[in-house]
Amino acid sequence: LLTARGIQKSFGTNHVLRGVDLEVQPGEVVALIGPSGSGKTTVLRSLNGLETPDAGVLELDGGPVVDFGAQAAARAGGWAHRRAGVRRAKVERAALRDRSAMVFQHHNLFPHRTVLDNVIEGPTQVKRIPRATAIGRAEELLARVGLADKRDAYPHELSGGQQQRVGIVRALALGPDLLLFDEPTSALDPELVGEVLSVMKELADEGWTMVVVTHELQFARQVADEVLFLDGGVVVERGAPAQMFSQPAEERTRRFLDRIL
Ligand code: ATP
Repeated sequence: LLTARGIQKSFGTNHVLRGVDLEVQPGEVVALIGPSGSGKTTVLRSLNGLETPDAGVLELDGGPVVDFGAQAAARAGGWAHRRAGVRRAKVERAALRDRSAMVFQHHNLFPHRTVLDNVIEGPTQVKRIPRATAIGRAEELLARVGLADKRDAYPHELSGGQQQRVGIVRALALGPDLLLFDEPTSALDPELVGEVLSVMKELADEGWTMVVVTHELQFARQVADEVLFLDGGVVVERGAPAQMFSQPAEERTRRFLDRIL
């Protein structure tokens, strides 16, 4: 479904991603693990155009194909070249964003809108789905995560775990091909983590294609098809979780897992 090759990104002099390759097949769950600051979130944000890499290629089945190196060259080129390049980059980024939906560490719900209004905002405003259709779909999704009775509540009336489940429903309501999760449980009280992880596990079982940045290694172990261990902006090791967690091939992976597990 998605292939990323040679993704590079610097913030000023901080070379955060140094050539990251990643491949996600339809229905697969890929987990990104690694120490704080290793670049996991930046990889995820690059996959849906929230971050613009300096180099590398992103290819989504059925389009778009985005060549960030070519975009950077266009920006550095002459005026006409630059204008055409910027226009193309905008179209490509919009196409990327259209295919995926992201669940953030903090739910980012609109505080003054009800749960239902939060969920239908994307479908009606971005996807131009008729309001009645969007409401029907939103109610169905809320019921699936056990929140049917909260449709008219405001975010502050919900627990952190419930808010995050609404965040997941909001992403699902966009009907994406790819779900991206950026440490969706790391801001939650420990007792609320389980309910969010179990929704994510259900989605994986239903066959959603997911890329998950997580510190929850047990979750990665149980749910992911492939785990990528990132350190210093490179993928140090990748593989099936059973293999990586029990017999990491790389010393750096072993040290990281020893510290966490
Ligand atoms: P964590 O597990 O702590 O969330 P991470 O592995 O997700 O870390 P990133 O958030 O991708 O790491 O950050 C990698 C590096 O990039 C860090 O040094 C961070 O300070 C830097 N960075 C990320 N976003 C920006 C930005 N918008 N501007 C400047 N520096 C940034």
